[in-house]
Amino acid sequence: MREDLIQVVDLQNLDLEIGRLQGEVQKIPQEIAVSEQQLTSSRQAWDQTRNRLGDLEQLRRRKERELEEVTAEQRKRQGRLFEIKTNQEYAAVLKEIEGLKERRSKLEDDILELFDQIEVAQGVVRDEASLFQEREKTFEQQKTTKGGELKHLQEELSRLQEERRRQANRVGRELLQTYQRLLRSRGGVAVVAVKDGSCLGCYVALTPQTYNELRKGEVLLSCANCQRILYWKG
Ligand SMILES: [Zn+2]
Repeated sequence: MREDLIQVVDLQNLDLEIGRLQGEVQKIPQEIAVSEQQLTSSRQAWDQTRNRLGDLEQLRRRKERELEEVTAEQRKRQGRLFEIKTNQEYAAVLKEIEGLKERRSKLEDDILELFDQIEVAQGVVRDEASLFQEREKTFEQQKTTKGGELKHLQEELSRLQEERRRQANRVGRELLQTYQRLLRSRGGVAVVAVKDGSCLGCYVALTPQTYNELRKGEVLLSCANCQRILYWKG
C-alpha cells in the first residue's frame, strides 16, 4: 500500500475510535438521567401514598371525635328522660335518642372501614418506601460506576485525540483537506476498504479497471459513487 494511504487509513481508524468513545461519553449522562427520573417518580409515588394515608388518619380522628360527641349527646338525653313530665316530650326525646344511636352505628362502621383502608395504605407506603430506597441505592451505585467509566473514557479520548493530532501531521496537506471534507460530508467515514469488488462505504461495485488499479496500489483512488478514498485490504 502507498505510504500516504497507510497514513490516512490509520487516521481514519483513530477517528472511528474517537467517534465511538464520544458516543459512549454522551450516553453516560443520559443513562444517569433515566435512573434519576425513575428515582424521582418513585419518590413522588411514595409521597402521594403517604399523603393519602395522612388524610385517612385525619378522617378517622375526625369521625372518632364525632362519635364521642354523639355518644355524650345520647347520654345527656337518656339522663333527661327521668326528668320529663309529659308523654309527648318523652316520645320526642326517645326519637332523638334513636336518631343518635343510628348516627353512632354509622360512625362506628365508617371508623372500622377507615381502619381497613389505613392498614392497606400503610402496606403500600412500606412497599413504596423500600422500592424508593432500593432505587436510591442503585442510583448512587450507578452514579459512582458511571462516574468512573466517564473519567476513564475521557482519559482514553484525550490520549486518542493527541495521537490523532500527531497522525494528522503525517498526512500530506492536500490529502488531509480531502479527508476532512469527506469526513464531514460522509458521516465520519472518509476512507473505506473494498470488499468483493464493492466500496464498503456505499456498497456500489467498482469498475474492473478501478478494481485492478486499486489492487496494484500505485495511485490514490476514490469511489466514483461516494468519493470516499478507497484501499484494498489484500
Ligand atoms: Zn462508495
